[in-house]
Amino acid sequence: MTVTDLVSYEDALASYDPVMGLEVHVELGTRTKMFCGCATAPGAPANSQTCPTCLGLPGSLPVVNATAVESAVRIGLALNCSIAEWCRFARKNYFYPDMPKNFQTSQYDEPIAFDGYLDVQLEDGEVFRVGIERAHMEEDTGKSTHIGGATGRIHGASHSLLDYNRAGIPLIEIVTRPITGAGERAPEVARAYVAELRELIRALGVSEARMEMGQMRCDVNLSLMPKGAQAFGTRSETKNVNSLRSVERAARYEIQRHAAVLDGGGVIVQETRHFHEDDGSTTAGRVKEEAEDYRYFPEPDLVPVAPDRAWVEELRGTLPEPPRVRRNRLREEWGISEHEMQSVLNAGALDPILASIAAGAPADQARKWWMGELARRANEDGVELSALPITPEQVARVCALVAEGSLNDKLARQTIEGVLAGEGDPDRVVEARGLKVVSDEGALGTAVDEAIAGNQAIADKIRGGKVAAAGALVGAVMKATRGQADAARVRELILERLGVQG
Ligand code: ADP
Ligand code: MG
Ligand code: ZN
Repeated sequence: MTVTDLVSYEDALASYDPVMGLEVHVELGTRTKMFCGCATAPGAPANSQTCPTCLGLPGSLPVVNATAVESAVRIGLALNCSIAEWCRFARKNYFYPDMPKNFQTSQYDEPIAFDGYLDVQLEDGEVFRVGIERAHMEEDTGKSTHIGGATGRIHGASHSLLDYNRAGIPLIEIVTRPITGAGERAPEVARAYVAELRELIRALGVSEARMEMGQMRCDVNLSLMPKGAQAFGTRSETKNVNSLRSVERAARYEIQRHAAVLDGGGVIVQETRHFHEDDGSTTAGRVKEEAEDYRYFPEPDLVPVAPDRAWVEELRGTLPEPPRVRRNRLREEWGISEHEMQSVLNAGALDPILASIAAGAPADQARKWWMGELARRANEDGVELSALPITPEQVARVCALVAEGSLNDKLARQTIEGVLAGEGDPDRVVEARGLKVVSDEGALGTAVDEAIAGNQAIADKIRGGKVAAAGALVGAVMKATRGQADAARVRELILERLGVQG
């Protein structure tokens, strides 16, 4: 890798305005492929989910997956797009071993959805509107694995293995209009857009959109124009960026690289680039093909898609509340800051919290457990919150036990520990571990009397007006009851016994 000159980010933005274009591919979570009945479940043995159609054998014929069309229409509607009355598939011709038909069935000048927008919220709360040019349907390619080379790349490999299980899995490609006017915030806008889109896709239930699994990937197009200019510069296209952080870094890096080339009197070549996770840099890929190179033509083996208007309106009725709107609504209902909400999202805690609330937990309690104890545990185990062996209903039950005074904080934590350890439902754990709060006033009174008797010096201080010293006695009682007392009640009893006001 040759070292590339970069201009500092601030200097680049002082001289140039960035223009961006984001192309996002989403793998739909349909049970079968786009044009055949092959299964799409991940993890199957190589080439076990293939048939003559997705292998491109002569004489085989494709049939469009109705669920994929429905998902495409719903995505289009959620992105405020117009839905085509009539559109066709097209063949995009090129040769690559992971594409057995030697063409990709895609859409070209007749996308199913076009002319929309997505409003994204930046960290400071500002809303930025990103124009959507189109969303179209296509199919994924197979997967090549290059063997023998040092880096897993084709260079230096002795041979390659091909797995066509992925060939033909439905994809939706969502393409933005050129994004202008973001200035120094362009990388932040790129990240916020992909984050918002991912949430939207998940809310629609059309894909899990797990970027780390390649279910959602983003190509970042970027160019610079001298400040104040109108004509766009030449773009580079950084391919297959697969995390939110990388999207932001790739945009930032390209701004600095383009500025260095332009400042030095050079020209930007239109090319694809690879992003490198380790140092956040990009390196040249191939010089970009023109559309003519693909010899697009309408797919003769498939009938056009003409979504019935009444059906489209019916689908519009199934759209979820837009994630941004939902987030802001919940934030207000819960009385938390933008920043706190962001932490909830980053932890993947929103759905579990909502499910616990639906099961009867107060919002603040649900948030407290999922963002505290459970987030810590998930982090330690390196798993998603949703993968922890505890259900939102069980968390809600713990909250209820706390609310009715049967558990205090410490006991609740032990109960959760027990559930996570596979000891059963919260009630079962409380029973088996003997975790109930000591609320029997007689037993508490005895413990308080003993604590006072054993700590006369402290008791005198409290009698003398040093109420703050009561903490030490509360501690003694809690210790004596193995943490199974209600600390607030213990404090009350101590002050009562010593004849001072709380
Ligand atoms: P291609 O298939 O060649 O990548 P697309 O039209 O699918 O072309 O996508 C190009 C993306 O780049 C779109 O999001 C478009 O808005 C954006 N774009 C077009 N021209 C420029 C430019 N000069 N600078 C930055 N982005 C651009
Ligand atoms: Mg492209
Ligand atoms: Zn097939």
